[in-house]
Amino acid sequence: EVDWFSLASILFLLMFAPLIVYYFIMSCDQYQCSLIDPLIDLLTGNKHLSDIWNKTPTLTYRAASIYTLWVAFQMLLYLFIPDFCHKFLPGYVGGVQEGAVTPAGVVNKYEINGLQAWIITHVLWFANAYYFHWFSPTIIFDNWIPLLWCANVLGYAVSTFAMIKSYFFPTSAEDCKFTGNFFYDYMMGIEFNPRIGKWFDFKLFFNGRPGIVAWTLINLSYAAKQQELYGQVTNSMILINVLQGIYVLDFFWNEAWYLKTIDICHDHFGWYLGWGDCVWLPYLYTLQGLYLVYHPVQLCTANAIGILMLGLIGYYVFRMTNHQKDLFRRTNGNCKIWGKKPEYIECSYMSVDGTKYYSKLMTSGFWGWARHFNYTGDLMGSLAYCLTCGFEHILPYFYIVYMTILLTHRCIRDEHRCFSKYGKDWKRYTAAVPYRLIPGIF
Ligand code: NDP
Repeated sequence: EVDWFSLASILFLLMFAPLIVYYFIMSCDQYQCSLIDPLIDLLTGNKHLSDIWNKTPTLTYRAASIYTLWVAFQMLLYLFIPDFCHKFLPGYVGGVQEGAVTPAGVVNKYEINGLQAWIITHVLWFANAYYFHWFSPTIIFDNWIPLLWCANVLGYAVSTFAMIKSYFFPTSAEDCKFTGNFFYDYMMGIEFNPRIGKWFDFKLFFNGRPGIVAWTLINLSYAAKQQELYGQVTNSMILINVLQGIYVLDFFWNEAWYLKTIDICHDHFGWYLGWGDCVWLPYLYTLQGLYLVYHPVQLCTANAIGILMLGLIGYYVFRMTNHQKDLFRRTNGNCKIWGKKPEYIECSYMSVDGTKYYSKLMTSGFWGWARHFNYTGDLMGSLAYCLTCGFEHILPYFYIVYMTILLTHRCIRDEHRCFSKYGKDWKRYTAAVPYRLIPGIF
């Protein structure tokens, strides 16, 4: 059942999320990244909506060609180049991997080759920038708004296609979830793991590529623009490239682990993932770099080191917390966490067909500090990105506000799910680990 609050939030997002993205990008293009000035102009009658809209770059043939080529290239890397990285990179898990068991009991196979796609794309990017000169490295920045229209076309097309597909030719009909509410189904998705053919998995492709491979390229394009405009790249721009680069590389290095996260294990594929991956992620996760093109901040050494440390510690907490749970679950608790045998709570749950299963919830390591310390690390990293931009404008701080809402909501959503799954065992767990994100506070 869809409660009124979920429905209201969904309608709000469907109507306003595209406008929010437009507003942020337009503010940078026309108002030097001020979020207040467009409002003042509109409220004082200094400008009309039509004036702002008429100044907005339209869809161009060039942008459409760049975007089509980009997506086609990523599809080619995804579908036709089997992973070779796992053959020579020690510790890296790539190639064909199995996902989690779906509620209908299906185990999908995935070709994990995201790291390879990222490496090939970036080698080509640098080869072009320093050797071939086929196009300017500022190409992304220079076409940023026309590309926004293309990303929207793809985001809406893929979400609509996924909805139609779930009615007429679902990949696994037993894993479809119909609530009967059109807006909810469109937003949160009906099919669990929509696929075309044996290997084209919508969730894995759209979540990782084209959005996350593009993330680091977008930042590089911003750095190139700073170089072109000011003759130098500021330390804040280098910091944002390095910190977000680590996060992106980590994502691809751990792509096989990602098969076990909520996005793949629990969420269905709808507009939330389809449009979100095509538009929201590449446009709003990269706001700091965009801001720094308009406001080149040169941080003093102490601040730069402080931000770097915050970002690295946040990353360490994020990675180690995820690693501890992964290790614990993979070895069924037969491992060492911080040098000791992990403590845990035994729990059980019932599947739809009435079979009883057993599981364990760890209460050691970072999982003994808080129930979602991985989110806390993620938030520390997110704050570090924002701080690279100084305190002149609020626009770059959107990211930490958004991530706080996203991860708090996710935490509550996940706990709700875990409570329905484990019942009283979950209660025992929350009594043993009483805090969600910050020990002693929340
Ligand atoms: P988690 O990796 O925290 O997984 C939650 C699941 O882990 C629960 O549903 C439960 O599943 C299991 N679990 C919970 N507590 C325990 C425990 N104590 N011991 C063992 N297993 C436990 O959540 P996500 O998949 O959301 O996040 C993965 C990472 O991705 C996080 O670090 C997050 O910060 C990041 N992320 C980043 C986003 C971004 O946009 N940058 C967006 C979303 C996530 P089960 O049913 O198996 O028991």
